[in-house]
Amino acid sequence: TNNPSDTRIKKLSPLLINQLAAGEVVTRPAAVVKELLENAIDAGATHIEVHVTQGGMGMIEVVDNGVGIHPDDMIMAITRHATSKVADVANLHGIMTLGFRGEALAATAAVSRLTLISSHDNSGIGRQLQVAGVLDDIPKLSPVVHNRGTTITVRDLYFNVPARRGNLKSMAIEFGHIETVVRDVALARADITIILFHDKKKRLSLSASAISTNAIDSDNNRLSVSRLEQAIGRSLTDDAIEVAVDLSGLVQQSSEYNVSQNRNHAAITGWLWPMHEKNDALPKLIYVNGRLVKEAIISNQLRQIAQEAQLAGIGYALYFDLPTEWLNINVHPSKQRIRISPLNNIMAHLSHALRSKLAAHKATSSLQQDN
Ligand code: ADP
Ligand code: MG
Repeated sequence: TNNPSDTRIKKLSPLLINQLAAGEVVTRPAAVVKELLENAIDAGATHIEVHVTQGGMGMIEVVDNGVGIHPDDMIMAITRHATSKVADVANLHGIMTLGFRGEALAATAAVSRLTLISSHDNSGIGRQLQVAGVLDDIPKLSPVVHNRGTTITVRDLYFNVPARRGNLKSMAIEFGHIETVVRDVALARADITIILFHDKKKRLSLSASAISTNAIDSDNNRLSVSRLEQAIGRSLTDDAIEVAVDLSGLVQQSSEYNVSQNRNHAAITGWLWPMHEKNDALPKLIYVNGRLVKEAIISNQLRQIAQEAQLAGIGYALYFDLPTEWLNINVHPSKQRIRISPLNNIMAHLSHALRSKLAAHKATSSLQQDN
């Protein structure tokens, strides 16, 4: 308009700020599920239940048995830019947790009716807080019965953002995305029981498996092929080629990467599956320190290795366990993209190992054919 006063600069309201953030973080119901699951994992939960109705458009509830939230921190938890996970800039390079931006709960609360219940001790009593949209007046905490841990319930997602609600796909499609998110997160951590219900029906149930240790992988929990099969719903054992690449040498020679002295190992473990037909829907999963990432440099190189080995394709579930100093996770709000600093060196080690694995596999399978 021509009204000159409209050209003056105004501060956005807190609600609008959170709703704008929600546009990046809370893109669909599955994105809420992902953030809530990651919070539960960061809280050290060993048992997590996810209940959703109507493809997540009715309700999304995540119940965990993690450390809980101190009663005095309940409001901070849903305040933008408030986090218990990163204290200063120096810490940004040593992030061990899945979350760190302190915006997921604030953004979700801005576009839904959110209930947060948490208990941080063993009293059996928790505190409950309810918000819908902005934190206008400070919400009251009421005591409720709750075991140690946290329950977050998100109802009527986008009730106050009609345009976004209109963009959602069918309940079946939205639930499909939720199932994928839960599966991908569950596959990152075999030591956690994760159960997913949709409209009261159990859709996925992955119980914590005994932790198998191996020589080069000291503290990360290795996933068994059977949990992978359970999650993916198909048999993968026949052709599974186990991968274990020790990168400790890289850590030792990499004083230039400033790896702190508290760790001296790095490794890639997991499985590979040679694809025999082009459209075989094998998993393609890359986890870096427990976080599922999309990294084109890695996936392209894997595709190239498969081509060289004259395979129709390749499936994989690879777990990179790297010093946090090598990673920059703060690339995008969705945290799916990541920068790994000695990536070329790491990929050289991985490619070398995979080529010899595939060659050995080829030799044994042609031997079997000859017999
Ligand atoms: P971030 O995970 O980036 O810190 P969130 O908005 O997701 O930001 O969460 C804000 C804070 O609320 C967290 O830092 C954490 O202290 C607390 N919190 C959220 N969910 C949980 C949970 N399930 N258990 C314990 N604390 C939680
Ligand atoms: Mg979070």
